[in-house]
This record gives sequence, C-alpha cells and structure tokens, in this order.
Amino acid sequence: MSTVIPIRADSTGCTDVVPLVERGQREVFCGLTGIIWLHRKIQDAFFLVVGSRTCAHLIQSAAGVMIFAEPRFGTAIIDERDLAGLADVHEELDRVVGQLLARRPDIRLLFLVGSCPSEVIKLDLSRAAERQNRIHHPAVRVLNYSGSGIETTFTQGEDACLASMVPGLPASQAGTAPALMVVGTLADVVEDQMRQLFERMGLQLSFFPPRHSQAMPAVGANTRFLLAQPFLADTARALQSRGAQHLSAPFPLGVEGTTAWLQAAATAFGVAPEVFEQATLAPRQRAEKALAVQRDILHGQRIFFFPDSQLEIPLARFVQRELGMHLVEVGTPYLHRQHMAAELALLPAGTRISEGQDVDLQLDRCLADAPDLVVCGLGLANPLEAQGITTKWAIELVFTPIQGYEQAADLAGLFSRPLKRRLKLAA
Ligand code: SF4
Repeated sequence: MSTVIPIRADSTGCTDVVPLVERGQREVFCGLTGIIWLHRKIQDAFFLVVGSRTCAHLIQSAAGVMIFAEPRFGTAIIDERDLAGLADVHEELDRVVGQLLARRPDIRLLFLVGSCPSEVIKLDLSRAAERQNRIHHPAVRVLNYSGSGIETTFTQGEDACLASMVPGLPASQAGTAPALMVVGTLADVVEDQMRQLFERMGLQLSFFPPRHSQAMPAVGANTRFLLAQPFLADTARALQSRGAQHLSAPFPLGVEGTTAWLQAAATAFGVAPEVFEQATLAPRQRAEKALAVQRDILHGQRIFFFPDSQLEIPLARFVQRELGMHLVEVGTPYLHRQHMAAELALLPAGTRISEGQDVDLQLDRCLADAPDLVVCGLGLANPLEAQGITTKWAIELVFTPIQGYEQAADLAGLFSRPLKRRLKLAA
C-alpha cells in the first residue's frame, strides 16, 4: 500500500509560488567540486583545473575523502609571474598539457577547467582548447568549461561540463525511431538499475555522460531526454538546440519520484500500463517497505533547507510526502520553473520557498524557527550545531547514490541519522 500523502485533485501545490528572493552574501562551494563525481563517471577523462593553489586545495581536500590510485584531475597553477603578465600563460599551459598527455596515454578526453583566477586574468580557455585539439585530436579531444565560483553553485560545474560536450555529440540519423536518453551523472550502480527497469519495459536507452568518452550517445530530433539531476539547465538548453525534446517529470528521488520519472518515459514511448506495472511493482514494494522504518523516525520532524545543491525542492517533496516531515523553509539557489514544474505541483500550497541567499537573514529565520533538522553547506553546519541545531551536509546528498527505488531508504537514512545521533548524545 502506498503511504504517499495524497494531493487533492484540484490542488496545484506550489505551482504559482512567489518565492522569497534574496540576493545577498552566499555560502556555497564553487563548480570545481563537480570534478569529484565527474571524473569517476567518465573513466578516460582528465580534468585539468587552470587555477590557483586555493583551487588545488579545494579539489584535493574534497577528493581526499575518497581513495584513488591514479587521480584523473589536477591543477595547472597560475602563479604570480602569470598574474603579473610576466609569462605567456598560453605557452605554459601548452607545455603542461603536452607533459600530461605524454605521461598518461589512457586519457582520451581532456577538460581545461576555468577558475576564478583564470577568469580574472581573462585567460581564454576556449582558444587554448582549440589549439590543443589541433595538436592532439583525434587521439585526445580537448574541451573547456568554467568551474569558477564567482556566480555559481557547486552543482553548476556538472552542468557546464555536460553542456561543453553537447556540440560534439554525434548526430542521430534523420527519420530514426525515437530514442530515450537519461541526462545527468548517476552512480554506476544506479545507472545499471535504471537500465534494467527500462529494459523490462522494452526500452533501450543511452546515458549522458557516458562511462567512456568513445561511447558518446547520438542526439537529434528523435531524442527524448529525462533529466536525472535538477541542475542541468544549460545542458538541457544545448540538447534542445540539437533538436532533442525534454520529458517533463519529477526527479527520481523516493518511490513516488522514481515512479513518476519512469512513467514519463513509459508514456512518451507508449509502454502499456500492465507492462509498466509488472516492471516496477516488485522494486516499488520493496522500497515502500524499507521506507516505513525511516518514516517512524522522521514523521512530524521539522526540516529547513538552505540553498546549496539545487536538489532542495525534489528532496523537500520526498521528505514531506513520503516521510511526513514538515517543511519550514525550502531554499534553492535558483528556481528553474520549467524543470521544477512537476515538483512544485507536489509541494503543499503555502510552503515557504526562497531563491538565492542573504545568509545572515536566512540564519536569523532559521534560528527563530528552531527546526529539528537543517540541510546546509559545510560552512554553516558547525555554527548551527554549536547552537544546538541538528544538521545534514547538503554535499553528502550529491556524493551519495540516492536516486531510484533501491536507494529510497538510504536517502531517508541520510535525514534520520543525524537525528538519531542527536538523540543518543542527549541520552
Ligand atoms: S574556482 Fe574560485 S571559488 Fe573555486 S577554489 Fe578556485 S578560487 Fe576558490
């Protein structure tokens, strides 16, 4: 039996919400962070950050929690001589790339990743990538994107990376049958589960990004794509400019979100209802059973989301509808109304949604509301914990496989664990 909170037939939830818009000081990581999960996904790619020692430290400390024998990322450090214009940065970069590719013949796709320092000195990385391609293509393809923290949130690094690959995707042949593409980085285990579910419905599909740069999916007017992540506005736009059509759906978080996401593709490809039911019934029931345990802990707890990963609205929908939590505030860095349409419709009318951030004002609201659990960036977690507020690091929700039926209870566990820990400490 489904335990999802039913929505009244005449309810449009938060579809027409007027968010509280704030444009003040923000506390977020920069787009370089995306390299941590992107380099694990595309197994023959290398991410060369063109940046400062700060950028190198950020990447190393973020990646330091995971162990890799041979990392596929690094930083070409811009030093004082470069900043003072005493060295030809393009020449230096060519030299570093040449050395790297000679030492690592396994690299087939190289990203030159811009940073705040490279943008400050107006280093044109697209020109550098073009020049490198003339030297190294076809053995290696060189692309560029910006991971700068100047006006971004950390998940936008993935968006910029994927968007940079879209122009190079092969064109699908005119007149070929519609084909499904899932867009956004998913852990391999989740990808395998999704593929299996779609295949049970008789659907073949491609994933973008692929696991290897030599297996780029074709795109064209026959492509119908589902977003697996909510932060891919530029990538979606780039795919649409190649003729692909977006299938609007909630995101595959929780049982309800996963079912609706799969259903959007099933409907677009004419899968019979009984085939869909047969393909999804067993994993759906397993997930609902596993969620019940978490619901006992989380039901009635009040949760506050600071804007960080852009996953906040789908997560809020999941914890409210499937776990019975109360939404105090749902902050998001950007509100993309079109991509969020299906999610907003499922949020209870009157939910306080904020877009952007003025961190001091938001902290004041949070402290006044005294929620049971706060989802926020690392920089805010410690000060809030010190005030007796239980927190969950937003970045963990991006690093952990959380999509799909099999992960629904794990996702709920990420919210219940800090509450259980707090209870134990208080006992
Ligand atoms: S890109 Fe900018 S925000 Fe990110 S680590 Fe480098 S200097 Fe800091």
